[in-house]
Formats: sequence, C-alpha cells, structure tokens
Amino acid sequence: MYEPVIGMEVHVQLLTASKLFCGCRADYVSAAPNAFTCPVCLGLPGALPVLNRKAVELSVMMGLALNCEVPPLTKWDRKNYSYPDLAKGYQISQYDLPVTRDGWLTVRVDEEERRIGIRRAHLEEDTGKLIHMGGRSYIDFNRSGMPLLEIVSEPDIHSPEEARLYLVKLRSILRYLGVSTGNMEEGAMRCEANISLRPVGSTELPPTHVEVKNLNSFRAVKAAVEYEIRRQSAILDQGGQVEQVTMGWDDARSETVVQRTKEEAHDYRYFPEPDLTALRITAEQVAEWRRQLPELPEARVARLCRDCGLPAADAELLAEDRALADYYEKAVAAGGEALAKDLANWITGPLFRLMNQEGTALEDLRVAPEQLAALSQSVASGAINVTTGRQVLEEMFAGGKDPATIIRERDLVQVSDEGALLEWVRAAVAGNPQAVQDYRSGKAQAVKFLVGQVMRASRGQANAASVEQLLKRELDSA
Ligand SMILES: [Zn+2]
Repeated sequence: MYEPVIGMEVHVQLLTASKLFCGCRADYVSAAPNAFTCPVCLGLPGALPVLNRKAVELSVMMGLALNCEVPPLTKWDRKNYSYPDLAKGYQISQYDLPVTRDGWLTVRVDEEERRIGIRRAHLEEDTGKLIHMGGRSYIDFNRSGMPLLEIVSEPDIHSPEEARLYLVKLRSILRYLGVSTGNMEEGAMRCEANISLRPVGSTELPPTHVEVKNLNSFRAVKAAVEYEIRRQSAILDQGGQVEQVTMGWDDARSETVVQRTKEEAHDYRYFPEPDLTALRITAEQVAEWRRQLPELPEARVARLCRDCGLPAADAELLAEDRALADYYEKAVAAGGEALAKDLANWITGPLFRLMNQEGTALEDLRVAPEQLAALSQSVASGAINVTTGRQVLEEMFAGGKDPATIIRERDLVQVSDEGALLEWVRAAVAGNPQAVQDYRSGKAQAVKFLVGQVMRASRGQANAASVEQLLKRELDSA
C-alpha cells in the first residue's frame, strides 16, 4: 500500500490597482487586448521597473495570515527563459529571499485538524497571454506585469480530498483579506500539484515526483491527483520507477499528459535583478500590517462554534465565505440565539440546494437574513411544519416575499387542532387495516406509515408530532 505525498504550488493574482513594476492598470478581464501596456510591461529596451508598494503589502498580509515569517530583507531575481508571451526574455521573480516563508495553515479532514506547512510565498510578474485563433497566434500584454504571489506548500498533503481542502482554505483566506478574487475560472488562482507515492509507514520523501499543471478547478485538482495515484501505483506495483516529469491535466479526457521530461527541464539561470534594489521591510511596518489583519476564517469558525453552538463542520461551511458568515450572523441576530442551529441547517441545507440549482450567488439572493429568521421561527413555533417551511422558502427564494405573507396568502398554517387532526387520524386507521395489524403485533414502525398517510391527506399541514401522539392513543386504546 502506498501513501500519496503531495505539495501544491499556487499562483495568486493580487488585487492591486496597477501592475507590479509599472503604472498600467491591472485589469485584463474586461479590457480590450493590449489596452493597458507601456514600455516596461512590453519589455522595451531601457525601460526600468519601479516596485508597486501595494503588492508588497498584500503579499505580507497574506504571509502573516498563513503564519509565515517576514524576513527583514527580500530581493528580486531574473528567471531567464524564452517564450512568446514573455516580452523581456526573463521574468522578474524571487529566488533565494522570498517575501515571506515558513508558515502553515490548517484543514479539517474527517474531523481531524491537519496542519499543512507553507514553505514560501514569493512575488513575481505575470506573463502576457497567447490567444490562438484561425490558425494564427496573438499576444495580449494586458496580463504582462500583473502581480502574482506564488505560494508553495510543503509536501504535507496525503490525499486528494486534503489537496482540495487546502485550496479551499487558501482561497477563503485570500478572500477574507481582499488580497485576490481567488477566481479560478478567470485564472486569478492557478494550481500545480507535485505528486509522488511512498510505502505506508515510510517518512522519507520519494526520489522522484510528478508535477501536474493546468489545474483550473477544485474538481480538476482532485481528479488529477486521483489519476496520478492510480497511474503511479500501477508502475510501482510492477516494480518500475516513476519518471520525474511535468504533466498537464487534460480536463476533457480526465487524464494527465506528459509535457516535458527531466532531460528537457528548464535551467532558468537565476541571477539577481540589477534594475531593482533589495527591499528592507522593518519590524514596525510588519507590526502595522499585522494590526490591520481582519478576523480570519479560523477565528470565525471558533467564534461560530462558541457563540452559536454550531458543530465544527457547519461552522467551517458557513465561515468559508466571509459574506456568507455575515449573512448567517445577521439571521441569528434577527431570530435570536435559540434559532442559531436551525438557521445553520436552513442555510447549509435547503437554501444551498436552491442556490446551487439556480446558480444564484449570495449577493443576488432575494431572501433577506431577517426573512430567513422569520421562517425558521414559524417552523420552530409550530405555526408551520418543516415540509411546508421548505415550500415557503422556495417561494421566498423565487419572489422575495415575506414568509408571513406567503403563509397567510396560501393558508398554510399548520393544523394542530385536535378535532381536525382526529378526523384524519381515524380515516387513516380505518383505511389501512394491514398497518394497524402490524402495529398491534409489535411493529412500532408501522405508526410512521400511518403518520405519512395523515400528512398526505392534510397536504402536509398536519402537525406531525401531534398526529403521531394521537395515532398511538387511538391504536393503543382500541
Ligand atoms: Zn505597463
């Protein structure tokens, strides 16, 4: 049996107003091709880079959120290679003195907290973008010079699900900080995975690893890691050796494809960037940025568990997105702490399902947190039952109406009146002799069937708990 050993490299686009080394607008999603370029990001001879202070600030904030060290000195290096989208023939990056290093983040895998090391996070400039159309290739330099933070984990990840959770947590922290959109479809977060296998019980790093690029969604990351585990297991089972290669993930075919082998691996000939001085970051500056850190997902999860009595798994779901956690807390504030758990269930259950079905984002949601609280209250008080509550939520979701209005207009109030319930109960007993006989011969479950019959007859409006009591009373007394 093998244990996967996985490290992740994630490129994150930083949310600065301008590019990393020039004043061009940092926007390549909405702009026309090559709208935002200048001699610096076009790599024209003699143009000199000037460092964007905000990019350093965002990088350090992210580093601090990842429990990293911020060394007092950081410097720039040239990474040399030739490619059409790289105008200068080199990329300004950081080699031996990254802006932050040696941190960690935690993920919860099967109820267990696992700490994943962060080796380093360094700043570098993005390349232009190649566009292939009608047999020709074009280059859009809007992306050239955009600030990227490359976050490199230690090989501490040991399952495809853990790899996915690592990325979910990383994106959550990025968004809490406002450091990046973390939007994978737009390329604001790009992932690569280093994957190898070792015998279970071994603590040594395997001699070779396979690097998989082009992972553009959480689903792709998980699928690619699963695929590589299968592929490498088969090689090792036959006594073979896994070759050190760089692969690309082919999403359409769901397999990894060799891009280059070790023999052709690049030698980037790194050397210090002569056009930029090394950067000193004072302890006072770091302390100031640390003071500005907002509450992070980890702390929010702890607070939701403590203040709202939520199980950790629910708190994690709600706290992954800062806006969602805000929505939840507003609902709790409106409905009272007694509804805290119910509200979490309404959100992570029926509301998430509706949002997924319709592809509705939180900011477009027409159910106000106060309205959700009112709905939850109506169910908790017994005014309507859960089934009716779900129908009311669907209507609130579609039309933005108050739950009280919907309940009144559609006459949905739960029937708890004993006289009305008894009529349904007696009809169910009379109409289902087999179930009655089952119950009396000791099959206690048969009563559930009869409750179901009453609920159907009442179109879901009977108070199910009262119905069960009445049924048992009727059956036991006869
Ligand atoms: Zn520029």
